[in-house]
Amino acid sequence: MAVDGDGAGERRRQELAGRLARVEERITRACDAAGRPRTDVTLVVVTKTYPAEDVRLLAGLGVRQVAENRDQEAAGKAALCADLPLTWHFVGQLQTNKARSVVRYADVVHSVDRLRLVSALSSAVRSQGRSELDCLVQVALEKEGAPAGDGGRGGAAPGEVPELAAAIAAAPGLRLAGVMTVAPLSGAYAGRPRAAFERLMDVARSLRAEAPAATMVSAGMSGDLEEAIAAGATHVRVGSAVLGVRAVLR
Ligand SMILES: *Cc1c(COP(=O)(O)O)cnc(C)c1O
Repeated sequence: MAVDGDGAGERRRQELAGRLARVEERITRACDAAGRPRTDVTLVVVTKTYPAEDVRLLAGLGVRQVAENRDQEAAGKAALCADLPLTWHFVGQLQTNKARSVVRYADVVHSVDRLRLVSALSSAVRSQGRSELDCLVQVALEKEGAPAGDGGRGGAAPGEVPELAAAIAAAPGLRLAGVMTVAPLSGAYAGRPRAAFERLMDVARSLRAEAPAATMVSAGMSGDLEEAIAAGATHVRVGSAVLGVRAVLR
């Protein structure tokens, strides 16, 4: 591991500080433009494919919320960073057989998209005797109007959200925290992130009518965080704009 003050580590620290400041500026400008207070929006830095050393540097720069999308990679990284005051978000497609592992380090899971995963997470939380796990229903807007059980990328069709939300709310150990989406690459919302995020806000509002505490709206990444903030996102998940373009795109 890089020691403090070592040349490469210090250069990386400065690079991350610069990129982080630019992302902060974008968020502040987007909040201003939307007439929202900056405190409405939480930056979650997606550290996937980058090493634990970068997570440590980010923590030193004041980052408190980090996200990962693959358990295989995240488990080790979270263990190496266990001494840091971080909240860990899991944002990737999650297999039920990984629920036990994810529940060891994650504080928030953004990608709950089927009933079997709700039960797997609930029993994992209970068997580990840990605190409640915040869960978001991942909404796949490209599945709107598509035949059920279509497979493809993660996420539930908007029509499936009420049932999933009710299951989370009823599951011991889980707390229904809100909704998440990734702007669709296909379907009616392809290339229209603002419209997609507005549609997510409709879904979020209907959910809040039933579950007032489910206030999180996780939307927006490096390329579309402005559109997400304009629509009403409370959490933006930003990877490459902070850490650099990933060598392996995913
Ligand atoms: C990788 C990833 C992000 C961050 O994407 P960038 O374009 O690098 O900002 C956000 N959300 C999810 C679910 C991701 O997998």
